[in-house]
Amino acid sequence: MTDLLEVRNVRRSFPRSGGGELLVLDDVSLTLKEGEIVGMLGRSGSGKSTLLRLIAGLARPQGGTISYMGAPILGPAQGVAMVFQGFALFPWMTVLENVELGLEALGLPEKDIRARALAAIDLIGLDGYESAYPRELSGGMRQRVGFARAVVVHPNILLMDEPFSALDVLTAENLRTDLIELWGNKQLPTKGIILVTHNIEEAVLMCDRVLLFSSDPARVSAEIVIDLPQPRERTSPAFEDYVDRIYVEMTARRVERMRQVQAQGDSIALPLGHVPPNQIAGLIEALSAPPYDGKADLPDIAYEQELEVDELFPVAEAMQLLRLADVEGGDIKLTHMGKRFADAELNERKEIFSRALMSHLPLAAHIRKVLDERASHSAPRTRFLDELEDHMTEETADETLKCVVSWARFAELFSYDDDAELFSLENPT
Ligand code: ADP
Ligand code: MG
Repeated sequence: MTDLLEVRNVRRSFPRSGGGELLVLDDVSLTLKEGEIVGMLGRSGSGKSTLLRLIAGLARPQGGTISYMGAPILGPAQGVAMVFQGFALFPWMTVLENVELGLEALGLPEKDIRARALAAIDLIGLDGYESAYPRELSGGMRQRVGFARAVVVHPNILLMDEPFSALDVLTAENLRTDLIELWGNKQLPTKGIILVTHNIEEAVLMCDRVLLFSSDPARVSAEIVIDLPQPRERTSPAFEDYVDRIYVEMTARRVERMRQVQAQGDSIALPLGHVPPNQIAGLIEALSAPPYDGKADLPDIAYEQELEVDELFPVAEAMQLLRLADVEGGDIKLTHMGKRFADAELNERKEIFSRALMSHLPLAAHIRKVLDERASHSAPRTRFLDELEDHMTEETADETLKCVVSWARFAELFSYDDDAELFSLENPT
């Protein structure tokens, strides 16, 4: 059978503000077959939306090919429709008008437009809201309009870009359940679905296959077939096994890279995402308390702490980096230092943190050493920014410095004056 969609070796970069190029997608390949829901799971900023825009024909790849039912996609593709995270409805149009809008480009007779729009509205559970305006609807109902507008064109491929992430938990779950049911009953007028998400459980709940995206630049780093019948039970052991497996895949690569960079000893080339010290302290406290007593399954503690993957991974990585915890095989385990931190008073916590920075974060040790050696005990931000930019982009260097500053402040290792853009040893607070 011809694939509905074939993405081969696609590359896309964007011009960077300070010059040069930001490579977002590098050598991305995937297929979508008829009857499949394929998930794309990756952290925010990894290039998922960019890839969807390429598939929808809204932008062009710079390398590689995207073919749709055997033919290359060259422009906004007929037969491909998209549901966005933000509902993107026109506020001055009724529900019916918003849905009909999806059909305008198809050049159908007026009465067919009306009939199809009403059918889509009915299908998606909006019956009775035809003449309502978006402002009169809840978030869940608005997103249903977004779905109705996409399926009304009977797209062969339905692209969904984090369609549930702006909704509250219950509303999102209702909508997911309804969609899976419609899909299972073959009532959705579409042949294949790509679902972009950063929610691991959502991917396991809805998809036949899940593609994991690594970042910087994005590549498909793993493919996991979810071999479970629908409807799926979130609490079943098999479901939890898939969630665990994806957690392991998603953490392993990053932690490995971090270990490699750290193993180089004095390298300052490790990009850091800013994680506030109080988030680190919060996770350490939760981990050290019962029922975990120092060790937890990452999905469990994410759920208990009400953290999304996007929020949990950076905190877990920061703890790994500072050797306050070990992240291994989907588990997180406090180290000896992590346990001491949990039991300590604020001043001792600062001391532990300070020692962790000096021992395990070469950039922090480097800044402190420069400040110690200078007679003025101060140095301009550009002194370190320039150094970092030899190894990473300007934005990443900026974010990395922000992170070090916030950690060093907590540890009282050095201070930073935002207005003067000056590092110093004065009153480190
Ligand atoms: P995701 O959907 O996975 O969160 P995106 O595809 O939105 O990620 O963005 C990936 C990266 O590409 C980000 O660093 C973003 O800033 C950059 N990017 C996306 N679109 C553009 C654009 N039109 N111009 C410049 N940079 C862009
Ligand atoms: Mg996105």
